[in-house]
Amino acid sequence: MSNLLPSIEALPDRSLRLGSLEVHRVLPVRGRRMIGPWCFFDRFGPLRFEAEKAMDVGPHPHIGLQTVTWLLAGEIVHNDSLGSECLVKPGHLSLMTAGRGIAHTEETPAQNSGLLDGVQFWVALPESSRWLPPGYQCTSALPRQHYRGGEVTAILGAFDGAVSPGHQFSPGVGAEIRVEPGSGLNLPLDRSFEYGAMLVDGDITVFGAPVERNTLYYLGAGRGELGLKSAGGARMLLIGGPPFGERILMWWNFVARTADEILAARQQWENRELVGDVPRYKGPRLPAPPFIGRPIGS
Ligand code: MN
Repeated sequence: MSNLLPSIEALPDRSLRLGSLEVHRVLPVRGRRMIGPWCFFDRFGPLRFEAEKAMDVGPHPHIGLQTVTWLLAGEIVHNDSLGSECLVKPGHLSLMTAGRGIAHTEETPAQNSGLLDGVQFWVALPESSRWLPPGYQCTSALPRQHYRGGEVTAILGAFDGAVSPGHQFSPGVGAEIRVEPGSGLNLPLDRSFEYGAMLVDGDITVFGAPVERNTLYYLGAGRGELGLKSAGGARMLLIGGPPFGERILMWWNFVARTADEILAARQQWENRELVGDVPRYKGPRLPAPPFIGRPIGS
């Protein structure tokens, strides 16, 4: 069979700092706003800390999306305006469906390991689901598919028979791949999905080419398999899905369709009309930034 697929494409990333926490924003970036329904991808850490609180993000709202928090090390406490509370640890899925509106906080618990390393992804909700009531799921029981030389955890969606319990509204998949030292994996991909992959730990080659850590590689669509090899072992994150068929607008923590929707949600947050307070969080809510920047369109 002929293979006319283009080579994999390294997307540019932006580094930012949240206090002492280093953040690599790999989506959205210039030239690529989405991969399937995935519209945001941040890697934070790894960080080793002592007295300070490594993460302390006060109450802020989201609309029109799902947030997926996935830790590689350390712990975060999630609280939200539904009253949900979860101590999130590595291997746990923290999945917040914003729908028409939710507010949440994310903070390092008082009792902690002194480590923080993880990612946050956002999934855009399709038109049919974006006005649903909000929801939150926290689970430690994620299915894994085992292979000779490694394993894959289905974080959201399904991968090769492993099906995440996370509620899904936009077709697609998020998965963590582990490759054992000195091993290779040939993983099945869905040809109708476009994919992105990022090495978060160790070393790996993708289709024989070494890739850099914290760089998101766009694999495109039409591939039936993903060929990986690692000398010293690796952890890699994979996101994918059918190209999202709707144009979205992203601004601050909102995913919408029009600037008017964003302005309305911003005003409602400022007027305390969008969502209720986050119980248990002691600290001020985050004010919306002024609406002067251009929203990021897909
Ligand atoms: Mn948030």
